This record gives sequence, structure tokens and C-alpha cells, in this order.
Amino acid sequence: MEKVKYLIIGAGISGLTFANYIKDDYLIIEKENEVGGYCRTIRKGDFIWDYAGHFFHFKTDEFKKMFIDEVDDKDIISKDKCTKIIYKDKLVDYPFQTNIHQLDKEEFIDCLYDLFNKEEKEDYDSFLDMLYGKFGKSIVEKFLKPYNEKLYACDLTTLDKDAMGRFFPYANINQIINNMKKNEDVSYNNKFLYPRNGAGSFIDILYNKIDKNKVKLNTKIEEIDYQNKTVKTSDGDTYEYEYLINTAPLNHFLKLFKNNEFEAIENELSYNKVLVFNLGFNKKSKFNKEHWMYIPDKNTNFYRIGFYDNILDSDKLSMYIEIGYDKDAKIDAEEQLKLTLENLKKHGIITDDMKLEEYCTIIMDPAYVHINGKVDNDITKLKEQLKNNNIYTIGRYGAWTYCSMEDSMIAAKELAEKI
Ligand SMILES: Cc1cc2nc3c(=O)[nH]c(=O)nc-3n(C[C@H](O)[C@H](O)[C@H](O)COP(=O)(O)OP(=O)(O)OC[C@H]3O[C@@H](n4cnc5c(N)ncnc54)[C@H](O)[C@@H]3O)c2cc1C
Repeated sequence: MEKVKYLIIGAGISGLTFANYIKDDYLIIEKENEVGGYCRTIRKGDFIWDYAGHFFHFKTDEFKKMFIDEVDDKDIISKDKCTKIIYKDKLVDYPFQTNIHQLDKEEFIDCLYDLFNKEEKEDYDSFLDMLYGKFGKSIVEKFLKPYNEKLYACDLTTLDKDAMGRFFPYANINQIINNMKKNEDVSYNNKFLYPRNGAGSFIDILYNKIDKNKVKLNTKIEEIDYQNKTVKTSDGDTYEYEYLINTAPLNHFLKLFKNNEFEAIENELSYNKVLVFNLGFNKKSKFNKEHWMYIPDKNTNFYRIGFYDNILDSDKLSMYIEIGYDKDAKIDAEEQLKLTLENLKKHGIITDDMKLEEYCTIIMDPAYVHINGKVDNDITKLKEQLKNNNIYTIGRYGAWTYCSMEDSMIAAKELAEKI
């Protein structure tokens, strides 16, 4: 039996960052035949695509510098984001709540009236309750509720009021009114960086800095015996570890423990999945400056779409499409692709003379974890129990949270420095 000090499950951005900072006796075991997890890039014909839009909104200099220093200047694209909402037949700037003055007069008055007459509370029971309390009925029912129901594919009363943390674009009445005169986007992602060769370029930077002999691909962790500190892999090997660092989604990870010890908490975890289509057409759309768009309309199957060609300034429409599903839903990708093309036509994004040259289908499962106070408490206790056994579970899905790639890197680095 081989012994290793740090055994890392998964070679996504979290696992690779941890390995970069631990530099010691480690082994990464990754079930796929390549590294990167959800931050991988796909190339097909003339098109470069990620697993849905994957942009960097760095808040620390350290990771931004790592990125800028290692990528050729000409291969880094820096953009002030241009994001729209397809609302009925018009485009409204995102976020909806600070751009209600762009709606037709009647709808604008409804939103403003409800915003002034909203009933704020000291505390809110749920995400939906918080939305009504902070923005009033019209803003919620015209955009925030239908859009988030499509994204999370769940009843918004089951989500915690802080389900989206800092990623939710809060705005008070002053900000909303001021924005009517002077558009000031203060959201976390008003500027973003993107590598010309796709988000996977960042993974290459991290991967190239570590010893590739310490990364075992095409190998799945199948069983964990935490009392004896061993794991069994799909190729029949057993490893003894001193520390186990998990970055696989918590729901999958908990299934690996012998005797289904954590089945109860695993059953509590709620999340949804996302079907992603990357589509490459033979020419550009009339929408030639937007980076991504939000679609609250329930008669349209997708909730968000993005335009790689408008980010890369390339001459053929290259898109990602995101469609939310309940975790147990069956996905008919073929049917959804047909619907997607119909809906793109309905919204004037593609026209009859445009030809789909390439496409690919990805299912992100899990995609969004559903943050709920009760489950959060149970997860905190679970993490404490695991930690007492030298097991740490990190990353957006390992830690079961809503965070960016950079947040996952920060957590991985901090853990490596701590232990
Ligand atoms: C639709 C969507 C859009 C997003 N857009 C952005 C964005 O624009 N910007 C941003 O910062 N973040 C974005 N994210 C979040 C981002 O994808 C994640 O934060 C990040 O990729 C998580 O990295 P990770 O390494 O923690 O997990 P993962 O990427 O999931 O890596 C886990 C790895 O573990 C491996 N694994 C799993 N089980 C096993 C096993 N049993 N044995 C061995 N290996 C295993 C997997 O194959 C995988 O490689 C988005 C997420 C979604 C769903």
C-alpha cells in the first residue's frame, strides 16, 4: 500500500491550487482524463468554449498577478461588461432593479410605486421573502422571481435569504434613483478578465507549476475508510493518507464513505443542475456588443446566454446557453437544442440564414447548491467532524457554497498554509 501525506481528490481549480501551495508529499487523484474540472476549455472547429461562461473577477492581487504574469499580454482580454436582460421585446441593462427607468412608463411606475411601499423587515424567512422586502412586488415579479426560479430550478422560499451572498446585486432606493441619471455599475463583476484561449488557460498555469507525476488521471476514488485513513481507487489500488483534501462535490464525496455513514446529511443536500450548450454559427448576430444576457421569460427555455465572439472580438457568433434543472429531472438534450434554436430565433439572436457549424453539450451536475440555514448548520458540524479526522472538504462544491473560482483558490491556499 502506497503512503502519501496529502491525498487530494480532484484536479479542478481547488485541487490544483492546494497542490501549488502545499508543495510537499502529495498526490492528486482525478477521475477524468484531463485536469480542470468545471474550468476546462473545449475547442471545436473555429470555436473556443468553456463549461458555460467562466470569467475572472479578481479581488486579490496575488491571483490576478499570477494570471497576468503568465499569460501573454495579447492573450488577455479585459472588458467592462455589457450585460442585458431580454425583457418582453426590449433590452434592459442588468441589474433589473437599478434600471427600471428603462421599462415602459406603466411598468416603471409600478416598480417605483412598489419599491417605495415595500415592507422591509428586520429579518427575512427566505430568499424570496428578502426579495419582496427589499425591492417590492413589481421588481420581484417582473424579473427577480422568474429569473431566479429558472436558474435555481426550485421554490425560492426554500433558499436562505443570503443564498447568493455577495453575488446578489443589492441596491437601495437612493442607488436606484441615482442610477436613473448616472449609470454606475457597482456590481462585483463590472470588469472581467478573460484569456483569449479560454478559462482553461488558467488551469494550465496552475498545472504547469506542479509535478505532473503527482497527478493521477483517469482514476476515481471509490471508497474512503476514515478510521484507517485509507482510500480505494477505481484501478484497485489502496492509498494510506495523513490528510485527505476533498474537492469533489459534497453529495458525491459523502457517498464514498464506508457503511453509508453520512447518508442522512447527504439526503438533505439540495442543488440543481444546468444543461449547457455551446453553439458556433457561420456568422455574427445583430447583437454584436453584449457579453451576456439574462432571460426571465418562462416561455424561453434558457435563463442566461453569453456571446464569446463579442468578448473575443471574433467574426462568427459563438455562444453559451444555460438551462436550469431540478437535480432529479431527466434531460432531453436533443429536444432542448431544438427549443434553444427556436428561442434564439424568436428573440432575434439568430436568423434563418445563419448556420450552426459546431456545438457541444455539457451537463453541470451539481451547478448551484441551494443554501439553506438548517442544512448549513449540519454541514458546519460535519466539516468539524471530518476535520477531527484530518479530512478537509473545499471548493465551491466540496465546501457546498456559492463562490467564484478565485474564492475557491483563496480557500485552498489558506488551507495549505494552515496545515
Ligand atoms: C453555470 C456556471 C457558471 C459559472 N461561472 C463562473 C464564472 O464566470 N466565474 C467564476 O469564478 N466561477 C464560475 N463558476 C463556478 C466555478 O465553476 C467553480 O467555482 C469552480 O470551477 C470549482 O472548482 P473546484 O476545483 O472546486 O471543483 P470542480 O471543478 O468541480 O473540480 C472537482 C474535480 O474533482 C473530480 N472528481 C469528482 N469526484 C471524484 C472522485 N470520486 N475521484 C476523483 N476525482 C473526482 C472532478 O472530475 C473534478 O475535476 C460557474 C459555475 C457554474 C455552474
